[in-house]
Amino acid sequence: MKIGFIGLGNMGLPMAVNLQAAGHDVIGFDTIAKPDGINLASDAAGAAKDADVVITMLPNGKILQAVAAQIHPVMKANAVHLDCSTVDVESARIIAQSAENANLMSVDAPVSGGIGGATNGTLTFMAGGEETAFAAVKPLFDIMGQKAVHCGPAGNGQAAKICNNMILGVTMIATCEAFVLADKLGLDRQAMFDVVSTSSGYSWSMNAYCPAPGIGPQSPADNDYTPGFAAELMLKDLNLSQVAAQAVNADTPMGAAATALYTQFVDNEDGMGKDFSAMLPRFEKRNRDS
Ligand code: NAD
Repeated sequence: MKIGFIGLGNMGLPMAVNLQAAGHDVIGFDTIAKPDGINLASDAAGAAKDADVVITMLPNGKILQAVAAQIHPVMKANAVHLDCSTVDVESARIIAQSAENANLMSVDAPVSGGIGGATNGTLTFMAGGEETAFAAVKPLFDIMGQKAVHCGPAGNGQAAKICNNMILGVTMIATCEAFVLADKLGLDRQAMFDVVSTSSGYSWSMNAYCPAPGIGPQSPADNDYTPGFAAELMLKDLNLSQVAAQAVNADTPMGAAATALYTQFVDNEDGMGKDFSAMLPRFEKRNRDS
């Protein structure tokens, strides 16, 4: 396929490289990054105009909408706009409508798996859009990832992503505060892990990404909380979950509390640039009333 790839940052570049290595004809564009090894167009429209599929991997919904306004008018009829960025559900649905108006297909397919997953081609894609559009880009998901779930119509990929990450933010905080409570009760961390990871308190945060250094599988905690998944990216996704919850009048008190805690952590408590599991040392430094 001829693929335009717009947004060659931490995630986009390795995804584009994997598509090219699999034999696809990739032409990229980024306003800042000018990486070697990928053919580059001089603007977004240049990367999009002859493409069968245009992939966007951009920071937020506002930028995505601006890029869509540049590329939709020049894309070939029936080409697919595959957006893999994490953005608000509303932007995803606006993009889908814009694509339909321009006789294009579209899929919103945010990813989980981080930079490692992008590099190794092991991402998970959560996709929203028409069945035919999903089928058209499925071979690309198979190169860039290990799993793609079709979640329903446009916007549902983003909906799945923010619901998943709202659970992740909440369970990470719960796991970290429970470790500190255990410390203060004199419970050994290894014993805490051995019990919880095999009992009803288990979760991905505890079992696969344990926030306590030296306990459980290797995780960012064992590398001084170098991300991994940075606290500010978790905060981005939590904020998106609360924007969506507000839009549909969903009561999400735990999601709101997690958003408030990560906001405080990133903005005022030196959390920026640390892994999101660094909530554990954050709780260690605090008391009940501080
Ligand atoms: P990044 O900031 O490294 O990359 C974004 C790229 O987009 C940058 O290179 C930037 O120059 C480029 N860009 C900005 N505006 C542009 C425009 N108008 N035209 C063309 N290029 C433009 O971010 P990233 O870590 O690669 O993340 C990309 C998306 O993936 C985000 O939505 C993020 O939330 C999501 N995501 C990231 C991770 C992760 O671990 N990094 C994991 C899952 C999802």
